[in-house]
Formats: sequence, C-alpha cells, structure tokens
Amino acid sequence: MNTVDLIRKKRDGGTLTRDEIEYWIDGTVNGTIPEYQVSALLMATFIRGMTNEEAAHLTDVMAHSGSMFTPEDLGGFTVDKHSTGGVGDTTTLVLIPLLAAAGMTVGKLSGRALGHTGGTIDKLESIPGFRTDLSREEFLGLVNRTQLALADHTDDMVPADRILYELRDVTSTVDSLPLIVASIMSKKIAGGAQAIVIDVKTGAGAFLPRLEDSRKLAQSLVSIGAQLGRKMAALITDMSQPLGRMVGNALEVREAIDTLKGEGPEDLTVLCCELGAELLVFSGGSPDRETAIDRLRRHLSDGSALGKFAQLIENQGGNPAVIEDPTLLPQAGKTIEVTASGDGVIATLDALAVGRAANLLGAGRFTKEESIDPAVGVQLMRKVGDSVSSGEVLALLHVNATGRLEEAKRMVEQAYRIEADADVSEVRMVIERIVEG
Ligand code: URA
Ligand code: CA
Repeated sequence: MNTVDLIRKKRDGGTLTRDEIEYWIDGTVNGTIPEYQVSALLMATFIRGMTNEEAAHLTDVMAHSGSMFTPEDLGGFTVDKHSTGGVGDTTTLVLIPLLAAAGMTVGKLSGRALGHTGGTIDKLESIPGFRTDLSREEFLGLVNRTQLALADHTDDMVPADRILYELRDVTSTVDSLPLIVASIMSKKIAGGAQAIVIDVKTGAGAFLPRLEDSRKLAQSLVSIGAQLGRKMAALITDMSQPLGRMVGNALEVREAIDTLKGEGPEDLTVLCCELGAELLVFSGGSPDRETAIDRLRRHLSDGSALGKFAQLIENQGGNPAVIEDPTLLPQAGKTIEVTASGDGVIATLDALAVGRAANLLGAGRFTKEESIDPAVGVQLMRKVGDSVSSGEVLALLHVNATGRLEEAKRMVEQAYRIEADADVSEVRMVIERIVEG
C-alpha cells in the first residue's frame, strides 16, 4: 500500500477499505505519513464524503489509536452522554449525578470550553479543590468503587483525533460530516460505554445552527454508534436561546445545584430528564420513557441526585460545602444590569451573542492557551416569551475585569429582540428523537 495511491483513490470517489484506513491512521499517529499527505486525504474525504461503513471503520480505527477503556475496566454496563456544544449548557453537571442516583454507572470524560460554547471541565474546576486531571487508575478506581467519575480526557486516548483535528482546523476540513462523526464517536467508543445519548443542539447557539444539518449529524452519529455495537439515542434540542438562566462557570455550578434540589429552571430540568430517560431505558432500569422521566424527577425532588453530586465533589477533592453555601464558589466583584429599551414580549434571545458576551467578560477562551475567570458570566432574568416593560432588568452581567464590559453589555442588549405584539409559541426543548439499539 502507498499513500499516493490512497489519496488518488479517495480523490476519484473510491471507498477505502478497513486495511487502507488502518494504514492511514497508523501512519498519521506514528508519523510515517507526512502531514501534507494526511491533509490531502482529509480534503479528498471532505469533498468525496464517506459511506456509512467507511465512517464506522474510521471511527473504530481512530478509537483504537491510543489507550481505551473496556467494559471490563469499567466494571460492567456503563452509560455516557455527549453534547455537540451550547451556551449555558449546564446539562452534564446535573445529568451525571442524576444517572448515578438512578443506579447507573457513569465514568465520563469531558472537555473544556471551545469557541462560544462552555466546557464541563472548566465548570467543575470552579469548585474549590475539585480535580479533573485523574490518572487512568484513579478514574477506574472511582468508577468501580463509587459508580461515578468525571474527568478530563487523558493525553494517551484517541491521539489520532488530536492530530487530525489540528490539521482539519488549518486546512478548512472541519465541517465534514464523516470527519465530525468519526471525531466525536471515536472518543465515545474509547470511553467504553455501552449506551450513549447524544444531545445534538440546533439553532443560533449551536455548532450547526440549521435543523436539517443537525438532523443529518444526529442520524449519522446514531448509525455509526449502532454499527459499532452501542445502544444509541440522539435528541435534537433547542439552542436558539441559552439553556437555563446562567451562562458562566461558577454560575452554572450554582444552577446545577438548584436543579439537583428540584428548584432549577424548567428547560434544563426537562432536558436532563429526557436525556436521562433514554439511558435509563437502555440500561433496563425503566420499562419506558414516561416511567423513566417520572423516576428521574423523583430523584431531583428527594435529594438523592444532590447527594450523588456531593459524593462526586468529595471523591475528587472538592469542597462539598458549596452545595449548602454557594458563596464558597468564586464570585464576581460586581454585577451590572442590562435593561429593556421598550415594552413588549421577548421574541428571540440570541444564544450565540450571549455566549460571545460571556467570553468577553472572561468566561471562555479566545485561544487555547488563555485562562478563564470562573466567577464571571451572564445571568438571564428574562427569556423568550416573557413580557417586559421599559427599564426592566433583562440580565445581570457578573463582572471582574472591565476591559471589554461595554462591548459585552451591548452584545447582551442586542441579543434580546423585544416586539410590541410578538406571538411566541411555547419553546419546545426536544425537537426530534432518533434511536437505535
Ligand atoms: N466536536 C468534536 O469532538 N469533533 C468535531 O470534529 C466537531 C465537534
Ligand atoms: Ca445554564
């Protein structure tokens, strides 16, 4: 086999065999195929696409490019959740302890903030003492002993994705469906879970804003996971406005705690129960989705999910007292009000603009190397469908550095579209559902 033949085959619309994909990925990881040839293969794949079978092979070969967790490592049937990324997406912080309260085993690897979207690892690190850089042994020890761990991706897992992603970033080959699916699913497969639910966001704040693109991505993720033997569900969910009321790291931890007490915003609560229900049914813990949702709601109101969150914090070195006393979390120096300029009903609230504003305040990163401020962010006092009058507070900005405050404030003001007689139908959280397994 040689790389030039492989490039030509893909360039001319051919289908790569498993052996050919192994040659490509092995050569990429061990450096025997130079980056210019890997880049040419990526561009040929971008332009020609891949069959479902090819994409499944690529996913599996990438998953095997580094160390993996097997079901035996994790002590049996485990579940996992992935989100394609959103603004104020506090879901994982609520869902992981909720699943544990319902008797499931969860060993989850998460990422940091990227672009205008937040990352679970950054949010958890706003809890004083909380460690996310667990070694393989620590992570597996916690999963086996306590059925619950949440850690940063380790460097030795799925190295193929890291290399390919960096090349895609600089060769304009990121937004290729088979390459996105292989990138996401290789990490899920390497994580070892048998049942996986994917939250595919759609709308202004999503990585793919158009519903038809979100649908294609959801179908492809489910199909590839199922081909590799996983029970798969994808929910396409609304990200036209931010999820819940808090956008920012420590603010979202506070929101997660409220939700785990059964006192959180309804959209976040509904989404967590809907996603969790898929996994509860897959794991045999509930006969159907309705029963599963009832059971999960009960775990939120009876304190059992909150108890699991306290256990997670304590197990990973954090101070569980933050649950009773949220002032122990980092707090911004001041809050600035954003007020309504006229009377009416909020017709839209642009999630992308709010995400960018939170980043301007310091909640996210503009380059990989930047540090974040865990305390800052945006608290939404009013959301789509609410009636407001002129001068009423729409949002609070939690601020430390004031360098880009004016820009952030203007961005949040403009994120709200207020119309005198807007007829806003109720926002549907789950727009579509795709299941295989
Ligand atoms: N998220 C990933 O992990 N990979 C992609 O290619 C796109 C989104
Ligand atoms: Ca939120």
